[in-house]
Amino acid sequence: MTHTITDLCIRDGACVEVCPVECIIPGQPQDEWPLFYIDPETCIDCGACVPECPVEAIFPEEDVPSSFVAKGGEVLNGPVGIPGFSAIFDGHDHNGAAVHLTATRKLAPKEVVDLTPATEENAKYFEEGPGYGR
Ligand code: SF4
Ligand code: SF4
Repeated sequence: MTHTITDLCIRDGACVEVCPVECIIPGQPQDEWPLFYIDPETCIDCGACVPECPVEAIFPEEDVPSSFVAKGGEVLNGPVGIPGFSAIFDGHDHNGAAVHLTATRKLAPKEVVDLTPATEENAKYFEEGPGYGR
């Protein structure tokens, strides 16, 4: 099993520093792979990354919600070119470095979204992405 980072990720990076097996990496190129990703072959399912995430974007793979109910104001981070993801997000990561996301949208209160596609995207990153680890 593995943990999965969902579209709620805003590239804060805090999860990377607590992972004991260093299996979390930022997606590159960022416009195609906007989230951070977890190598499912290396993740030991320890759960250490979950409480570090300031936006609660990380779930055990089997618990990624298909009906996530938004509080309102959460940022969904999508690949460039996805319809509806037209907002710019400018923020800072946990070290104070600038984060610039070019394809986001904010969730409305009580909006329901399916976060499960992130599981497949995560796997694809390591199968078809930039060849991390190979
Ligand atoms: S801590 Fe959360 S927001 Fe930051 S990179 Fe990890 S999953 Fe993304
Ligand atoms: S669950 Fe543990 S091993 Fe897996 S990504 Fe999170 S910190 Fe790393």
